[in-house]
Amino acid sequence: MAVHQEKKNSEERKHKSTQNDTQTSQVQWGRAWEVDWFSLASILFLLMFAPLIVYYFIMSCDQYQCSLFEPLLDLLTGKKHLSDIWNKTPTLTYRAAGIYTLWVAFQVVLYVFVPDFCHKFLPGYVGGIQEGAVTPAGVVNKYEINGLQAWIITHVLWFANAYYFHCFSPTIIFDNWIPLLWCANILGYAVSTFAMIKGYFFPTNATDCKFTGNFFYDYMMGIEFNPRIGKWFDFKLFFNGRPGIVAWTLINLSYAAKQQELYGQVTNSMILVNVLQGIYVLDFFWNEAWYLKTIDICHDHFGWYLGWGDCVWLPYLYTLQGLYLVYHPVQLGTANAIGILVLGLIGYYIFRMTNHQKDLFRRTNGNCKIWGKKPEYIECSYMSVDGTKYYSKLMTSGFWGWARHFNYTGDLMGSLAYCLACGFEHILPHFYIVYMTILLTHRCIRDEHRCFSKYGKDWKRYTAAVPYRLIPGIF
Ligand code: NDP
Repeated sequence: MAVHQEKKNSEERKHKSTQNDTQTSQVQWGRAWEVDWFSLASILFLLMFAPLIVYYFIMSCDQYQCSLFEPLLDLLTGKKHLSDIWNKTPTLTYRAAGIYTLWVAFQVVLYVFVPDFCHKFLPGYVGGIQEGAVTPAGVVNKYEINGLQAWIITHVLWFANAYYFHCFSPTIIFDNWIPLLWCANILGYAVSTFAMIKGYFFPTNATDCKFTGNFFYDYMMGIEFNPRIGKWFDFKLFFNGRPGIVAWTLINLSYAAKQQELYGQVTNSMILVNVLQGIYVLDFFWNEAWYLKTIDICHDHFGWYLGWGDCVWLPYLYTLQGLYLVYHPVQLGTANAIGILVLGLIGYYIFRMTNHQKDLFRRTNGNCKIWGKKPEYIECSYMSVDGTKYYSKLMTSGFWGWARHFNYTGDLMGSLAYCLACGFEHILPHFYIVYMTILLTHRCIRDEHRCFSKYGKDWKRYTAAVPYRLIPGIF
């Protein structure tokens, strides 16, 4: 129903532009044609060092009880050589390769062959076939939204195995964590390389491809906008959601099981991390249709950044708190535990409400109530490559009137809560908040650059009306 309404609205709002377009830059939105030296340097840095960073973090837990300084100290003082560390690192095993292949294959089956049934009985849940946003080439893709169902089936089977079938140990992920890292890397590199080749030779939609002429930029940031195999296998939706986010909660459960095995109990900090991150993951799947309208799907092309990032960076570095707690079980005092829980829940509330307000506003074309009042907004227009002019609105009410990215602020509060649950003995579990702060601040800048190219002077009117990005009055 909402989808039909949105389609109708969008049909009403678009019309073919007959003007000789004076705002050519607006037609380039979503396409960084010129690669500046800073972007190139950052990309080369990430391509070279991101896999090493992941290895370093995981290795330091495996060999140094999660100390990030000790390996460096050992190397600098000559106590150990790189080869000593490398020789102690578990290698790829047939067992890990088997587990990983089965895992990915199972998720592919759930994604491709099991149409969504959750939307048929869960009130308020939007699943089944849904439409994405208009791409720069003016295409509207259809998606089968069945991530919640995949998450539920996977977790039901996980618990059924843990409590009844005992086919494998619930600590299986932790026990094979480094061998699985090699498998995840193989998949991450394979899918990114395949996506690049596909972009050149058999793109899903040639008009939505972006070639900058710079090999490294194209490999990292992607060529194709929405690569697909067949009608429904969408790379972005699958890789972000399934090997990435479905795995997140399973990995945390495996860490909790390991704590139980090692210490005979699961600490309250481990429960907090499992619960807060579990809420975040479930929220993602409950709102998977909304995710179609977020930057990952709407604006980013599919390259190494998303392909390798979803297979390796996300499952390995977003779950560092749980991993750390296996090596350092932290039992928080009641006041601290409650404080962290409250911080996490408030952060989640802000994150969810801000995203919900924008979603509601866009779905109803502004015919809704935000905090009991009709929302205020700025009318804006943009153009797709074929010269079709579209109209849109930027809301200046609710949380969107407080700051331009208050959803990121809520996300950061939640991220801080996960880290605080681990105490302050080591910095490793605090990597996440540092990373999220850099990621989301960079994302603000990237998104605003894109929105400015898209909306031009209308975006300037919006930033004048809502002057702050993350924290009202400060930034
Ligand atoms: P947003 O959901 O904030 O989407 C930004 C887009 O929304 C803009 O490009 C613009 O798109 C539109 N928009 C901007 N301002 C307004 C407004 N005032 N009114 C209406 N529409 C507006 O960004 P993301 O996709 O980056 O993030 C979605 C969520 O995902 C966030 O809560 C973020 O915290 C989270 N996230 C989490 C990550 C993680 O690793 N855990 C990584 C990235 C994001 P348009 O072109 O349609 O106008």
